[in-house]
Amino acid sequence: MENLKDYVGMSRPVLDHGFVELVDYMGNDQRIVEAARVSYASNNVEKTDEENKKLIDYLLRNGHTSPFEQVVFTFHIKMPIFCQRQLIRHRMARVNEISGRYTKLNSEFFVPEHLRTQAKNNKQASNENEFVDDELEIIGRMAEEQDLVATNYDAYIEEGVSRELARINLPVSTYTEFYWQMDLSNLIKFMGLRSDKHAQKEIRLYSEAIEWFVERVTPFAYEAFENHVKYGTRLSKQEKELLSDLLADSLSEEKKEKYNKDENTKRTLRILLEKINT
Ligand SMILES: Cc1cc2nc3c(=O)[nH]c(=O)nc-3n(C[C@H](O)[C@H](O)[C@H](O)COP(=O)(O)OP(=O)(O)OC[C@H]3O[C@@H](n4cnc5c(N)ncnc54)[C@H](O)[C@@H]3O)c2cc1C
Repeated sequence: MENLKDYVGMSRPVLDHGFVELVDYMGNDQRIVEAARVSYASNNVEKTDEENKKLIDYLLRNGHTSPFEQVVFTFHIKMPIFCQRQLIRHRMARVNEISGRYTKLNSEFFVPEHLRTQAKNNKQASNENEFVDDELEIIGRMAEEQDLVATNYDAYIEEGVSRELARINLPVSTYTEFYWQMDLSNLIKFMGLRSDKHAQKEIRLYSEAIEWFVERVTPFAYEAFENHVKYGTRLSKQEKELLSDLLADSLSEEKKEKYNKDENTKRTLRILLEKINT
């Protein structure tokens, strides 16, 4: 898409009734480099895309996060309450949510397509590709339970119960809607945690929908995020020492010659050595 503003108003479907819509954004890759360069008064000097991309990568790699705060995204999100309870833990967001006191809620519920089994080696996790044998029958029961709660919710309101009390038995599978605004620095933190395989699949799908917009609006920052956060990792002291020993050995052999030929590998290696030697 030529014009980035064309992404505003676009929506990505998530789960059975949810979505992530880009309401608006402020700033882009250019804003990040301008903000970074203002610190050394070289703002007016024309830079190439390649130079800007390198600077953004450098900033994220070295934890210079404040230029990323100059970019802000606002999303309209519809998600089940159990997902929103995880999302809301990311406190550096500004949120406006539909009020169950003002409005009669739609009583729309998330019904899983599959029922993943409980992981044995991680108390928090499920087995991504292993489903309960009689999942269809159980999913049917879950949906029946939701129907009953929805019918009762409507009835309580008909019977004169206030909306704020009629809602109290609605389950955490109920969909809610809200505006969610966050700067790119915190969004990078959020996506790093919630697109990770350790996050629950349902919130991961929302995080990936958010990533889709971030990649389009700030492609260089997104690439740096993939490089250093999503597919990158921090090393412990012990890991650094071990890796340093291993590299020292192998570099003295034929690999050293191979590495020396490839510019990208040389650069990655130099950065890795810098990382593990500091
Ligand atoms: C896989 C996974 C499992 C989790 N399991 C649990 C769980 O079992 N139970 C549970 O309670 N939580 C759980 N969490 C939530 C987790 O502990 C964090 O609360 C959540 O990831 C938000 O991270 P954050 O604080 O960095 O983000 P934000 O709240 O967005 O904050 C961003 C950054 O701002 C700073 N900051 C913000 N607010 C404050 C503050 N009040 N004081 C100091 N610094 C602040 C911090 O530097 C912080 O890193 C889990 C998260 C993940 C990803």
